[in-house]
Order: sequence, then structure tokens, then C-alpha cells
Amino acid sequence: MVLAELGGKLRDSLRKLQTGGHDVTKAQLQQILNEIARALMEADVNVKLVMTLRDKVQSKVEHLLRNEEDEEVTRRHSSNLSKTVQRAVVDELVALLSPGGDVKGAKKVYTMKRGKPNVILFLGLQGAGKTTTIAKFANYYQRRGWKTAMVCADTFRAGAFDQLKQNSTKLRVPFYGSYTEADPVIIAEKGVNQFIKERYEVIIVDTSGRHRQEEALFEEMQEIAAAVQPDNCVLVVDATQGQAVYDQALAFHNAVDVGSVIITKLDGHAKGGGALSAVSATKSPIIFLGSGEHFDDLEPFNAQSFVSKLLGFGDIRGLMDAMNSVSDGKSQEELMKKMSRGEFTLRDMYNQFSKVMNLGPMNKLMGMIPGMPDYLMPQGEESTHRLRKFMVMMDSMSNAELDGKVDLRTKYDPQVEKRIRRIAAGSGCHPNEVKMLLVVHKQFEGMVSKMGKSGMVGKNAQARQ
Ligand code: GDP
Repeated sequence: MVLAELGGKLRDSLRKLQTGGHDVTKAQLQQILNEIARALMEADVNVKLVMTLRDKVQSKVEHLLRNEEDEEVTRRHSSNLSKTVQRAVVDELVALLSPGGDVKGAKKVYTMKRGKPNVILFLGLQGAGKTTTIAKFANYYQRRGWKTAMVCADTFRAGAFDQLKQNSTKLRVPFYGSYTEADPVIIAEKGVNQFIKERYEVIIVDTSGRHRQEEALFEEMQEIAAAVQPDNCVLVVDATQGQAVYDQALAFHNAVDVGSVIITKLDGHAKGGGALSAVSATKSPIIFLGSGEHFDDLEPFNAQSFVSKLLGFGDIRGLMDAMNSVSDGKSQEELMKKMSRGEFTLRDMYNQFSKVMNLGPMNKLMGMIPGMPDYLMPQGEESTHRLRKFMVMMDSMSNAELDGKVDLRTKYDPQVEKRIRRIAAGSGCHPNEVKMLLVVHKQFEGMVSKMGKSGMVGKNAQARQ
């Protein structure tokens, strides 16, 4: 997971509140808030932002404390205390990472339109990971059935053309570029016009990331933007730069209308929090995070989902979005109807898993499952394997079990225990693994039920992607 270290620390701090139960004192609360603040600063989040966050959390929970002099949190309130602190921490972290919403001057995230050309201009300094990110972005949309193409308007860097072309061949995404034309504006214009004529839906334009002089770089970007009239300008920044990306992002903003940002190299970089919060401070929405060198290492970014995953609450919303993005219309519509009533059987989970398998490595999706313990969080290909294993177990279940007519979660029932052993034997697993599957399903069902009651399912299906 991106920022695993920070997530671990925050979870540990919040857990102390839960286990503290009725005995959480004001001093302990202070200590926990300090720990949270320290963890954020260690992840390179700007000190001022951290202090603001801490003060806001504190003032939100303050009214739960009887009075300033009182050392003990009142018994009456303390059971709510951990929930209140947790909610306040979540809200403030989300606010820290959301430039959107009611923040003054914040930009709206550009929504890709199906059946129309979406011209996306990519900007970023050389080395930020722009070329790699373009390939990932193309791969992301292509896999989801969007007609995608790439244009190379970087004539400054020798090799840019070949790098992009190689990626385009690997991904089987059409490519426009020129070895002979030296004017990037002409290339961009011709390439984009050609792909618009051929009815491409996602037309990605790569621009140069370096020039002899900075002004020349920005001038060229402006000329290309004027020529191709992009629907969205995406700035690519490197997380390893930490808080320094703030100034970088502002410089690009001042030159062109940056619509959204992708932050790369967040994999294993403990200090990525600085880049994330700094970009948000520039009021541009972050749309994706780059988390590796492979084409699949691109995660859509949503502050709520990100924080939810970071704190170990799972990300059922992200999972729903992923499922929706591979949906096949009718059957998904039926499922949505069921889900809006709060129903989600093992068979529904099976069907969703099998669809989601098409999206590539599963580790990111597995991280979205609420309640998935860390030690079960698989890495890379292993995650696909784990999901497949779950499906094999479900293959060994009866129709009644899959359709929720028999409850395998009934405790201390010898019949149920026997069935679990049979399913385990039939699928070559340990009974505890079958129980884990049932726990995962229960988590899903609980979330679906909550979402169904709140009316989130149907709206959510249309609101994003
Ligand atoms: P550009 O100059 O901005 O086009 O940068 P490149 O796309 O050529 O990337 C520069 C280096 O960063 C390459 O070695 C990439 O493999 C690497 N890179 C790009 N994105 C990521 C990422 O998300 N994670 C990691 N670990 N490396 C990345």
C-alpha cells in the first residue's frame, strides 16, 4: 500500500483509543494526537498543515471533555470518544488531501466523456515519470474499453519518441509522432486532429519536460495547449521531491491551466505525504497515484478512499467503482438494484471477483476490502492467486449457500462446521481459509447494507468514472 508506514502508525494510535475503553484520559488523548501529528510530519507533511489538523481534531473532541481542569474523560462520553476522534481524524485527513469541495478556488475534476474525444495534455519536468505515466494512463482507459491513442510532442529529448513508441507497441495503443518534424506544435496539432477524425475517445499528448531555458519550456506548453485545446492538462509530479512539489506545481499553474495532477513514485516512499498534501494545497485535484514502474501501477485517487485505506477501514467505494468500470450494463444494473436493498450474496461476490480479475493485478483491489488484515494483504501476483482461491472455494459451495439461503456463518453448529470442512477439502484449502472468505463476505455485506440504506449504491454507480 502507498504510505504503508504512515498508515501503520496512524492505525496503531487510533487502536490505542479503542482499547483504552472507558479509561481514556485527557492526557492520553493529547498523547495520541501528538503521535498522529508526529507520524504525519515523519511522512513529510508540512508542519503548519499538521498543526492545523491537530487543532481541528482537538477542538472537535473538546466538547466531549467535561471541562478543562478535569483529568478524566467522563464515563458517559468516553465510549463515544474513540469514534469521535476517529471520525475527526478521518475528516481532517480527507480535508488535507481534498482541494475540491468547498475550498475557495478549487478546481473540479474533469470527467472523461464517453463517445467523444477527450484530449489530455501531459505536462511535467523531465524525470518526473511523465512518459511512464502516459503509458499507464493509456493502459488504464484501454483496459476499460476506451478507444485510446497517444501523440508524442516532445521533440526536445532524444529518445522520447522511441520510449513512447515502444510503450505504444507493448500496449497496442496507436501512436502519432515524427522523426523529422522539429516543431512540437505542428506534431501535436496533426496527431490530435487525426485521432479526433478517427473517433478516438482518449487522446493523450506528451510534451517536453525540459528545455535550455525554463521560459522556453513554458512557452512551448502554452503554444501546444493553444493549438490542441486540451480538455484537461495533467501535471505529473514526483513524490520523492516531497514538499518541493508545491512550488513546482504553482509554476506550472501560472503558465497553463493545470486541471489535475498525477503523483508518481509513491511506492515505498515513506515521505509521500508531503507531496500529496502539497499538491492539494495548490488546489488541483489529484486524479491518480503512480505506485511502480509497471503499466498496472496506477491507482485512481480519491481522498476519502485513500484515507479509508490508510487507516485500514478498506475502501468499498473504490471497489464498487472498479467493479462498475468493468460492468456489462444489464447484469450490473440488476446487481445495483439488489445492493440498494442491501443484498449481496456469496454468488454476487463471486461474479464481481470474476469481472474484476480482468483489471490486472489484484493487490490494489484487495486493499480495498474492508477488514482485510495486513498479514493477509498479498503482494503483486499473489493477490490474483488469493482471489482465485476464494473463487475456487465458492465453486465448492452449494447453490443454497451461494444464494444466501443457508448461512455458513452460524457459530457452533456441527452441520455448518462439517460443511466448511467439506468446502475446504473440495477446494484444497484449510477450513480457516474458508472462514476468512466468509469474514470478507460479511464485511462486504455489511458495507453494502449500509450503502444500500444510505442510497449510495445507485448514485455512486453514476457519479464517478
Ligand atoms: P519522464 O522524463 O518524466 O518522461 O520520466 P520517465 O517516465 O522516463 O520516468 C523516469 C524514471 O522514473 C523511470 O526510470 C521510470 O521507470 C520511473 N518511474 C516512473 N513512474 C514511477 C513510479 O510510479 N514508481 C517508480 N518506482 N518509478 C517510476
